[in-house]
Order: sequence, then C-alpha cells, then structure tokens
Amino acid sequence: MMNKVTVLGSLNVDTILKIARLPKPGETMQMESKQNAGGGKGANQAIAAARCKAQTSFIGKVGNDANGAMMLELLKEAEIDTDAITYSELGTGQAFILLQTSGENSILVYGGANQDVQLDDVKRATAKIQASDFLITQFETPLAGGQLAFEIAKQAGVKTILNPAPAKEVSQQMLALTDLITPNETEAQALTGIEVKDEKSCRQAATKLQELGVKNVIITLGSKGAFYQTTTDYGFVPAFKVKAVDTTAAGDTFLGSLSSQLKPDFTNIEAAIRFANRASSLAVQRLGAIPSIPSYEEIVAANK
Ligand code: ADP
Repeated sequence: MMNKVTVLGSLNVDTILKIARLPKPGETMQMESKQNAGGGKGANQAIAAARCKAQTSFIGKVGNDANGAMMLELLKEAEIDTDAITYSELGTGQAFILLQTSGENSILVYGGANQDVQLDDVKRATAKIQASDFLITQFETPLAGGQLAFEIAKQAGVKTILNPAPAKEVSQQMLALTDLITPNETEAQALTGIEVKDEKSCRQAATKLQELGVKNVIITLGSKGAFYQTTTDYGFVPAFKVKAVDTTAAGDTFLGSLSSQLKPDFTNIEAAIRFANRASSLAVQRLGAIPSIPSYEEIVAANK
C-alpha cells in the first residue's frame, strides 16, 4: 500500500521564455520561444507523489481563470483529490522563467491566489489532513496556514514534512512541529548559517536543525545526491549520473516521490532516498516542471 499524502501549497502556471540572454535596461528583444507548463512547488510535489501512486490530496487556491482551470485539470489527470482547492479573486499564481541559451534561469513569480490561502481553507480540510500518512508544505503559501496544518497533523499523529523553499525565516514553533525538513544546500545554509559543502558540514547543519526542534533532516545536494540524518542514523546517498537539461522541479520531484515510499517511522529512509534520487534524475533530463515528472513505472524501469 502506498502512502496517503496531502500537500498544502502553491499552484502556478509557468511560462518558459527561451531567450539568447537577459535584455539590458531599456532594450527590446525578440524571444526564441514561449511555452506554458504547469508548476508551482505544491503542484509539482503533489504530482510527483501521485505519479508514484500515492493517494494524494491538495489544499490550495487558484483564480477563477483559464490558468486555474488548467491547473485543476492537471491535478485531476494525475488522480489528485482537488476538493480542498478553492477560488480566490486574485488570479492563479504564475511564474515567468527566463531560460537563457547558457542554461541559466531567472524567474519572476506572481503569487496571486497562492498568497490568499486562509486559515479557514486549512480548517475546512482538517479531515483530509487527519486521514493522511504525510502532510507536506513549502513557503509559497502563507506561513500561518502551514503552521495550522502542521498543528492539526501532529494532533492526529500524521507526519509533517517541511520543504523550506523558497528560503525564508522559519519560526521555532514551526520547526518544533516538523518531523522531516528537506532543504537544498542554499536553504540549509539560510536556515543554519552553516555553509553546506561536504559530509561534515551536512552533519553540522543537520544537527543544528535538530537542536532547533526538527526530528529528521534530508539535505538535497543537486547532482551530488542527498544527505540524511534521523534521530538514530545518518548517511549520504549519491545521485545517479545523468545529463541534466533542465533542473526545474528536481527538488519537488525528489520530495513528492520520496513521500510516496517513505515509511511514517522513517526506517526505510535510505531506500526511499535512492528511489527519490532516481525519480529526480529522470526529471532533470526533461524540460519543464510538471511535464518532466516521471511515473512509478518509469522509475522502476530505470532501476533495472
Ligand atoms: P532543488 O531543485 O530544490 O534545488 P536539488 O538541486 O538539490 O534540489 O536536487 C534535488 C535532487 O534531484 C538531488 O538530490 C538529486 O537526487 C537530483 N538531481 C538534481 N540535479 C541533478 C543532476 N544534475 N543529476 C542527477 N540528479 C540530480
């Protein structure tokens, strides 16, 4: 039986603008192509979980507009329960990804409806949270809602996962409610002040997060893989060697697929990370966020 996963988070339509280079101030420039794709950290993580056969529910907000309809459709296609997604008068969240020929990304985000997720929206989804194995949230919706969702989860014995992205200050209360935190290298440094560059500094950063109240830590290290530290164990799981073309949603694919496999007592954390490394190694070989997220069958086939 796969896990039941609820994601409280963001839904964005990404517009990928392929350009030779960034325009200079005052310059008008042609772009090479323009393409829309579903995205937003919340949506990416939920779709990654659902494509790995987790029974997945979503709590969030969209605008009553074409982009909102597109995002709801994408989630439903992945068999995600969208009953706890409501409408906001603000438009659906949107990200403009300036993808330069060099491969470098610059991203502009309009939070829109994501910034309008209210405590009442979370309260109305109490039963869904209580029925989950894992509740996941990030920092693209208001922090107060995330904290309330974690409180509801903890009272029901549901394990909480905080993906602290994009980097932001986190309250001590939120950290104390967190069973697993999953920063990347930059976010780990922002949270702890420790520059994460090797196993020793990963251990130091993870220990600092545990001192702040978090029980378990996974630091994702891009093409290097991931480091984990639980209450009883720690280790490093190397990434798969692949040719990356677009690393958008690597971390989201990692976390969503991890949540489908991880046992709520964390005893299989190393195997779950290996599975998540494989899933995200497939995602980085394809363009875009949601279109790049692999299915369970693809992950299993790649492991053969
Ligand atoms: P984020 O996207 O949040 O910055 P990371 O860059 O740390 O997250 O990537 C998350 C995971 O994706 C890594 O732990 C790794 O398993 C996988 N990954 C990322 N980049 C690559 C790559 N170039 N080659 C193989 N795997 C990768």
